[in-house]
Amino acid sequence: MATIPERHADNAFVLPAATVAGATIRAQNAQACSPVCNAASGETIGWQEHASEAMVDRAVHAARDALVAWRHSTPGARGKLLRKIAELLEADRARIAAMQMRVSGKPPFEADLDVSDAIATFDYYADLCENTALFAAETITVPDKTVLAQRTHEPVGVAALIVPWNFPMVTTAWKLAPALAAGCTVVLKPSEFTSPTEHMLVDIVSEAGVPDGVVNVVNGGGEVGAWLTAHPLVDKISFTGSTASGRKVMQAAALDMKRVTLELGGKSALVVRQDADVAHAVALAVSGAFTNAGQMCSATGRILVHDDLYRKFMAAFETAVRALVVAPPQGENVAMGPLISAAQHARVQSLVAQGVEEGAQVAFAGTLDAACKAGFFMAPLVVAEPASDNLLWREEIFGPVACVKSFRSDDEAISLANDTRYGLVATVVTQDANAARRYKAQLRAGLVWVNTPQLIFPQVCWGGLGLSGTGRELGIAGLRSYQELRHTVEARA
Ligand code: NDP
Repeated sequence: MATIPERHADNAFVLPAATVAGATIRAQNAQACSPVCNAASGETIGWQEHASEAMVDRAVHAARDALVAWRHSTPGARGKLLRKIAELLEADRARIAAMQMRVSGKPPFEADLDVSDAIATFDYYADLCENTALFAAETITVPDKTVLAQRTHEPVGVAALIVPWNFPMVTTAWKLAPALAAGCTVVLKPSEFTSPTEHMLVDIVSEAGVPDGVVNVVNGGGEVGAWLTAHPLVDKISFTGSTASGRKVMQAAALDMKRVTLELGGKSALVVRQDADVAHAVALAVSGAFTNAGQMCSATGRILVHDDLYRKFMAAFETAVRALVVAPPQGENVAMGPLISAAQHARVQSLVAQGVEEGAQVAFAGTLDAACKAGFFMAPLVVAEPASDNLLWREEIFGPVACVKSFRSDDEAISLANDTRYGLVATVVTQDANAARRYKAQLRAGLVWVNTPQLIFPQVCWGGLGLSGTGRELGIAGLRSYQELRHTVEARA
């Protein structure tokens, strides 16, 4: 927490506390705010004002006021606006990716991928809006022919969207596009670490012609999320973040029976069978564990390798990890950027220290490029054969740390992979079609990849089992999660 500086000699930006019904709301000078850092240099590049409780209330009321007109607009009209948002994002792609790099320190290919993902999501829900059958009343066959039974999918109402810092704009698009398609109005709370690109997205939403009040933003940290989730006029909460915060969101939602979608943590497994191509398995292990510096709910930080391949795999994995260029985004061939903040860096370092104290052995680590003089960089690190109760094997690390364990049979691999209270994703690498079928059926996860990197399509739902959350984003289920299923039964004339 800090106090907003009066004037910025260094041209640092100040992001407003809130955007409500198209109007920018500034905090008072004395009000708390937080710095926005460049994760690759540690420098403060701007400030993020925090909304007050009264501003959160205004934002929710604005969303409520805009709801009637928006929910009664046609899906086709909403789809045209979503399409326009996708087009404007495409036109602004370079500027948005540059901001993504400037704030999060992501390598160019990752920053660009984030923008592509957001565009694909808006395009997909624009397509769904053109599918009139998805929004029309459906007749249900019932035995009594004297009545007409129908079901409809109505917008839930005002949706609070709380998004984290690891994929800014992406997780927002996954919530915002289906919410708007469904006819909901929203109050968005971005992470205070990465709000600049969220502001760019919201500017684009407005430029596309989405009416004022349909999308409102409240910024800040500390209590803003809790004020929003507790607000009685919020009908639905979609939250992405830690399981600990997800629990609080669910508890707050229970008071008013608000609808919730929670995309939370993970501790996912990648299984390398004895018939796997080792080079391919290593490529999937590297991207699964170290993309976005491991700050992914889907990170496959538990790598299970068949005994027959273990030595060969570890040798190739070590070569690959040592070759990863960890550097600021301006460097050449950068594969991995920094962690998001000093606090996250300290948290990951502390978890590693605790794991080592508990007996985990670091097998090898990568190196930092000479350009990593400041910022929140951490070299990728691989732990070999940790005990099954070691915290590095059990807990979500959210940093560039992977654990490798050997196994001797499919039964053992499946049992180890499923030995977690999370259940977000899993990957299996095998050339045996029968084995692939078995793993798809028995790995306990919301999404299982077979021999592919972590491909995400807006058509394919995202979400986990157990402590990984509840509900699904993306796909048609993502749209339905912003709708209430209703039925009518009427006497035929
Ligand atoms: P958290 O997910 O724990 O939470 C921060 C967010 O939750 C903020 O937006 C905060 O808003 C909101 N929040 C907290 N309490 C409540 C509440 N009662 N009601 C509504 N909103 C609430 O993230 P951190 O940044 O603290 O990261 C900690 C760990 O979380 C990471 O190390 C990682 O393990 C995990 N994480 C997982 C992510 C994922 O994609 N699954 C993404 C990011 C982090 P406010 O501050 O305004 O209250």
